[in-house]
Amino acid sequence: MTGSRLQVLEGLVIRSREYGEADRIIIVFTKERGRVSAIAKGVRKGKSSLSGATQLFSYSRLAFAFGRGSLATVTQGETINSHRGLRESLGRIAYASYISELLDYSLPENKPQESLFILGASVFAVLEVIPEEDMEILARFFELRLLAILGYKPQLDFCSVCGRGVMGGSFVLSPYRGGIVCTGCSGSAPDELLSPGAILSMKKLLEIDLRQLFNFKPGSEIKREMEQATEGYLRYYLEKSTKAKQTLREYINI
Ligand SMILES: [Zn+2]
Repeated sequence: MTGSRLQVLEGLVIRSREYGEADRIIIVFTKERGRVSAIAKGVRKGKSSLSGATQLFSYSRLAFAFGRGSLATVTQGETINSHRGLRESLGRIAYASYISELLDYSLPENKPQESLFILGASVFAVLEVIPEEDMEILARFFELRLLAILGYKPQLDFCSVCGRGVMGGSFVLSPYRGGIVCTGCSGSAPDELLSPGAILSMKKLLEIDLRQLFNFKPGSEIKREMEQATEGYLRYYLEKSTKAKQTLREYINI
């Protein structure tokens, strides 16, 4: 390949789709270069070692040839961790797809994002082994930590307009204001409300260590409030709504 530059990188395959008769187009979240789009040729023919290494959700070591185009070519690869468990239940597939989609939308092309890489890799590893009932709180943890890493951490200490404290009533999460706004200042519809309990839970998720996360068990109403609030917030900052969220919602029947 004249003019191309080879680089071996480790990363998470966050998108993988079949292309043509035997190829696969993948998006890999690498530590060194962030989001890398690539084509793996001939992977679906015979016994290509690239087949497993380019499978969705795999953590792999891949050799990329970077040329002039936006799509690199994967020339060799080996699977480090296939994360097989993530493909073995509908629930895990739904959550892993959602997390992958958020990563895909958040990452600039070919730019390292080390904190986000550590977050993504740890959340993937944990998602594979936790009981299914813990997946929802893991998703909330991931969303809030993603926002914080991207510089969009919501202000959750007081009303962003009048300064009223959290215990002083109901609030909404306003992406426009970058944090919570009391109902007196926002005039929002009641189904978007965040109770003081939900606000304190979100603060906790922004601080807690992932190893301690599953000792924290907020009630279903608080989880529902957080889910609605973060969805609007993410949509605003990522300028996209996620398709995988719809699948996830069908799975958990919200
Ligand atoms: Zn206010």
